[in-house]
Amino acid sequence: MLQTDTGQKSFSGLRKQDAHALFVWLRQHWLRELAPEIRKDSEEIRALLSKGYPRQSRLDLARNKAQKALSRFVRVPEADWCEGIEDVPFRWISEVAGWEESDRQRLRQDYVVRQLERHHDFLGSVESQPLTERQREACVVDEDNNLVLAGAGTGKTSVMVGRAGYLMHSGQTKASEILMLAFANKAAAEMQERIDKRLGKCGITASTFHKLGKDIIAKVEGRQPSLTPLAEDDRALALEVNQWFEEHLKTPSYRKMVLRYFQYHLYPAANPFDFKSEGEYFDYILANDIRTLKGELVKSLGECLVANYLFKQGIEYKYEPAYEHKTASTLYRQYQPDFYLPEHGIYIEYYGIDRQGNTAPYVDREKYHQTIAWKRQLHAEKGTSLVELYHYEMAESVLFEAIDERLAAKGVSYRPLPPEAVLATLREFGAISNFSALLADLLKRYRANCYEQGQVKSAIARAENRDQVRAALDLLHPILDDYQSLLHREGHIDFDDMIGRALEYVREGRFVSPWRYILVDEFQDISEPRARLIRYLRDAGKECSLFCVGDDWQAIYRFTGSDLSFTTDFQEKFGPTKITALDLTFRFNNGVSDVATHFVLQNPVQVKKQLNSLKTVTRPAVSLLREDNRPRQTANDPGRLEKVLSRISDIAEPGSTVYMLGRYGFNLPDRGELRWLATRFPSLKLECHTVHASKGKEADYVIVLGLETGKHGFPSKKTTHPLLEALLPAKEDYSHAEERRLLYVALTRARHRVYLVADMAVASEFVVELLRDEYEVELNEFSISLSQQLLHMLKCMKCKTGTMVPRQSRYGRFFGCNKFPLCSHRERGCALCDSQMRRTDRFKICINPECQNWVPVCPSCGAEMVRRKGRYGEFWGCKNYRFGSEGCLHTENEILFDKRLLALEEA
Ligand SMILES: [Zn+2]
Ligand SMILES: [Zn+2]
Ligand SMILES: [Zn+2]
Repeated sequence: MLQTDTGQKSFSGLRKQDAHALFVWLRQHWLRELAPEIRKDSEEIRALLSKGYPRQSRLDLARNKAQKALSRFVRVPEADWCEGIEDVPFRWISEVAGWEESDRQRLRQDYVVRQLERHHDFLGSVESQPLTERQREACVVDEDNNLVLAGAGTGKTSVMVGRAGYLMHSGQTKASEILMLAFANKAAAEMQERIDKRLGKCGITASTFHKLGKDIIAKVEGRQPSLTPLAEDDRALALEVNQWFEEHLKTPSYRKMVLRYFQYHLYPAANPFDFKSEGEYFDYILANDIRTLKGELVKSLGECLVANYLFKQGIEYKYEPAYEHKTASTLYRQYQPDFYLPEHGIYIEYYGIDRQGNTAPYVDREKYHQTIAWKRQLHAEKGTSLVELYHYEMAESVLFEAIDERLAAKGVSYRPLPPEAVLATLREFGAISNFSALLADLLKRYRANCYEQGQVKSAIARAENRDQVRAALDLLHPILDDYQSLLHREGHIDFDDMIGRALEYVREGRFVSPWRYILVDEFQDISEPRARLIRYLRDAGKECSLFCVGDDWQAIYRFTGSDLSFTTDFQEKFGPTKITALDLTFRFNNGVSDVATHFVLQNPVQVKKQLNSLKTVTRPAVSLLREDNRPRQTANDPGRLEKVLSRISDIAEPGSTVYMLGRYGFNLPDRGELRWLATRFPSLKLECHTVHASKGKEADYVIVLGLETGKHGFPSKKTTHPLLEALLPAKEDYSHAEERRLLYVALTRARHRVYLVADMAVASEFVVELLRDEYEVELNEFSISLSQQLLHMLKCMKCKTGTMVPRQSRYGRFFGCNKFPLCSHRERGCALCDSQMRRTDRFKICINPECQNWVPVCPSCGAEMVRRKGRYGEFWGCKNYRFGSEGCLHTENEILFDKRLLALEEA
């Protein structure tokens, strides 16, 4: 009987003792036979593990080799089985085969500690300042993929240079195996300069993505491709596109498509029922500048469609004219139907209800139906002709048919304008030139995406307003073809071809990648095709690792195609990753850092990381100046900017730099103004930048301008065409995510102190947040008026987003909604002191703390209540009370005012 690992085997004729001896001999023989192979395996494993950083790919490979080696045995051979074959490390191999995550961690840690010690002096001297601990670690760690999250002012360039230097200094690679990538020419040049300066002319080239693409193409095709002049001349491209577009417009079929497009999609569709308040819907109207082809500012998209359809059908109309019979009373204004057709004597009303009669959530359903009934009755009484249209007809895309049908029923016949005439009007309105400019943008965006099979389809399928997107794409396709054939004819390529063709060559293996280390700067700005290119290159290179430095908090280029998700979901997109966060900023103090960090982290998608400041201050370093944005009243009246600069020049060291930063260029002082300010404050160095242009720069003091609400506000509420939107990276869920990061960038340009300048009547919601929430912001550095202190709380009670601002009419001063004429809500000032009144649910309260006048509001009709004398003493009566006619009869004997309401509480 033979005791083996798989059980007992019987050999007849053998004694037990002999059988055992035979087994031992067989086992030893077997081991001796296998020894050379196992020895080779173990050497391979050793080589893998001594290659450098224990990357996941190497550890996985080592484990697989070890497990394969051991699979020849049922049990791991023990030391005393191997007499005479001692040099086969069975025990060690079995350890490797069984390494767990904690073992891997230990290996990595040991490696990093060893390397940091060995290259301590080099890492201390490679940059002008010795690298910090985190920076050193980032240089040495070499996982398959590495992401370094480098906050503002944490020295990301030092890490790029340090790492490249370390890789060569430690003998792991040579210059020709390192690929260093930056986005813009200027950034690449600066990187190159820094490398040459710190590492000597070592042979590393910092390249842009375009240059990389161009070099790959040249290598594969054997000659340098030539770039189209249009690639660097947006104006020339726009002109070219315009010519093609005009050419196509001469073709009846294309012209028909264009006219159809403008009939349905002059503006992106939005359902008023989807908005939370009337004001938000008005914001959509304003942001898209929704006007009729005759230029009328309308209150809804539906009205705009009706107006333009009437126009196109050659029917003269008047928008919101006064009704022909007088209806105005002491309580109600004169009735103004939506439209009047003077040639036919027909009124048109467009009602905002769905098929069930529901109104938008912010409209009182009952009152709305009362109004509809009143209008119908009025037209019936006066014998005027009324055509009714409904919101649901627009939603169901049958609005135009409804107009045709109802006008025909009234005997109206009409002759539509000829296409040429409609086109001429569209041209006059600016729609044609705007669309041509849009086509040029769409062309660039479309090309930049370097679509591979099926990608464009799925982008369109995800889009909002799909009908409009498809219609616009149909108009774009012929232009894309024109562009392509132009390039072909001239034998040129563009920047997108540089990436697109390079992608193809690398993917197909026609380009042999020499690179083992790919380093990418400003990684948060990467677009999908570029990310694809570096992934292809990484996979094509031998044991190639990826090293990307960026800051997801400073991603502000989505509109050029940058896709932040490559940074925030790095590991999912690239595979096993070591993420290192540089946590020490050399630039700004904790006062700036705390506000900026808290602000940017409101968006839960941003990666949470601690940012420590080298400098600490004890008082707030972000200060708010609240003042209205009216032009200067007198020559001595200092403007807002002058006030801030004067304050800075009091506290700053002579020669300090001050950045004035605007969301848009027009937020900034013009050249003449800047020159004047420079002479006025000679001790300060003044510069003006847009926030985008200030990225990567720093100043002692920063003044942020343009912090207003609206289309060109900050956050900017400008809308993007749905097709352009579909061609851009997926929009983030968090609203104004990119604009929030943009303000973060603005704040973090400052070494010492940031000044925010805002008019609270139109203040950006960011300013209101910084003011209201738990931010350490200085509010008392400048004196402010009472209304500026309170304005952000005094929102229009009708539309909810407008601010009540003082206005003058011929009857005196009043407060009106700043969304006028869309919102015509107005209120009277305090009867005692003329100040603005704020609302609680039951009272109007004067905002002037010296006055504190209060007036109850009628719960039945919303008018003010007044004290009246009656037969049985004094009582409260509604101001709308009219003797013997229509009016409000609400009265109350006693109304108690709770003094606690005087304390300002925010909604
Ligand atoms: Zn309003
Ligand atoms: Zn008052
Ligand atoms: Zn009343």
